[in-house]
Amino acid sequence: MKCRICKGKAEIYLPQYNLALCREHYIEFFLRRVKKAVKDFKMFSREDRILVAVSGGKDSLSLWDALHSLGYNTAGFFLDLGINGHSARSRERVEKFAEERGLPLKIEELERVFGMTLPEITKRLREPACKLCGRLKRYYMEQAAKDYDVIATGHNMDDEVAFLMGNVFNWKEEYLAHQSPVLPAEHGFSRKVKPLIYLSERETAAYAFMRGIDYYDERCPLSRGATSIFYKNIMRQMELGMMGIRFRFLKGFYSIQDRFKSEDRETPSPCKVCGYPTTAGGLCSVCRMKIRLGLLPEDLLEDSSGKG
Ligand SMILES: [Zn+2]
Ligand SMILES: [Zn+2]
Repeated sequence: MKCRICKGKAEIYLPQYNLALCREHYIEFFLRRVKKAVKDFKMFSREDRILVAVSGGKDSLSLWDALHSLGYNTAGFFLDLGINGHSARSRERVEKFAEERGLPLKIEELERVFGMTLPEITKRLREPACKLCGRLKRYYMEQAAKDYDVIATGHNMDDEVAFLMGNVFNWKEEYLAHQSPVLPAEHGFSRKVKPLIYLSERETAAYAFMRGIDYYDERCPLSRGATSIFYKNIMRQMELGMMGIRFRFLKGFYSIQDRFKSEDRETPSPCKVCGYPTTAGGLCSVCRMKIRLGLLPEDLLEDSSGKG
């Protein structure tokens, strides 16, 4: 197979576009798709300071690499969750990536800022690790983003479609209203964007490979059979018979999404302990977690309106 642009040896074939490309032109294609998403959804501008949430995996490091290549002003943020072996190996990749490119990297350790590692928290609270982890990551990312204009995450098209399928099949209207490639800065939350939504998991993996990004590829040992993997498999099956269905499903959703938005959504107010925006009444979910774990005094609970 030959590259459609230079007729050199093609390294990848993209069935959705009936397009074969060599390494150089694939990288160009990938960057154009990122640029298009940034432009279509008005994600950020050249002047903005972008904090890229990185895990050491292919998606977040490809995103950081792409934004840096496109000339945006970026820094990385990594939260070390203290998961045996896994966190250290992810962190190594992130540190190496930043160092090689001379990019600023902010690292926070959960044990230091929260007082416990994720495995300890999960064991003591007996709640699914992924749920707790998502909550903690969002929380510390917000804290880290104070000096930045926007937070960028490496969610790709498959991630977004899997999330959308889950929300549709379970009719989670609240989530459908807010599943967006851009969340505006409001009620004390930072602006959040997903510049990889026009690129599939395969396309992102190919980019990481062709750019020689040394990423960490192991699944988190704490996650148990995430339902997103199930949805991704179904979507790929559908894609075999209906080329481009993933993208149409997602694009179509964005165009009608406003229908799910309702006015009577509760406005968050600052947590009385840490100031993080919350609708849980008085205390945010992370401060509540700390109380349950004995890291904050219990009497804080009594004088909040306490909804959960
Ligand atoms: Zn070429
Ligand atoms: Zn709080």
